[in-house]
Amino acid sequence: MKNYYIFFGPPGSGKGTQAKKVAEKLTLPIISTGEILRQEIEMKSEIGLKAQKLMSQGKYVQDEVVGNLIIKRLRKKDAVNGAIFDGYPRTEFQQNFLVNKLKKFNTLGIFVAVKDAEVKRRLGGRRACVCGQTYHLKFKPAKKNGICDVCGGKLFTRPDDKPESIKTRLEVYHSLTEPLLKYWEENGRMIKVDGEQKIDKVYNDILAKLKKKN
Ligand code: AMP
Repeated sequence: MKNYYIFFGPPGSGKGTQAKKVAEKLTLPIISTGEILRQEIEMKSEIGLKAQKLMSQGKYVQDEVVGNLIIKRLRKKDAVNGAIFDGYPRTEFQQNFLVNKLKKFNTLGIFVAVKDAEVKRRLGGRRACVCGQTYHLKFKPAKKNGICDVCGGKLFTRPDDKPESIKTRLEVYHSLTEPLLKYWEENGRMIKVDGEQKIDKVYNDILAKLKKKN
């Protein structure tokens, strides 16, 4: 049976970090629409060029655009046993699309809860690398200042981590994405963890709750 785990949480909740750890543990691929979009921007593709402005402002990219990226990604061989979603779905349209697509399989939502004040503190210090690795100046510094531990790339501040964009991203998250949790909660298909704890504690909480669910 194919298993799909869908991570939810505000921007900066650490859901990407947790999704990566769970993906490794369960040997499932991680599907991060934000990551795919950033790669498209890097490649200067048509999709990337269109998405760039919206992303830097903290707004969502069109449902159709991310939907096509998802379809393409799910067809890859490594997703035969399932996948872990990070940052998708984000709107009601996307959720209906995904739920319908995965209706024959096991699905579980994982909600990493973090309050707005903590989100603002975290995102201000976040640094990213094109390889997908993220750091935080205070909480998760790179070994060598400004250089990625994994690939040696130069770290940068994502345009959407600038203060004005952070404010928009939180507003958009609360109005469009947070309401999606209701579906998973009501169907008993959601686990919730406190994302304001240390990375390893959040991860252990997720594993313990996953064990109980299975
Ligand atoms: P993330 O890396 O998940 O924080 O995503 C970064 C940005 O990419 C978001 O702020 C959106 O602009 C865009 N994005 C990522 N995933 C989606 C999605 N599922 N729907 C719409 N926009 C998305």
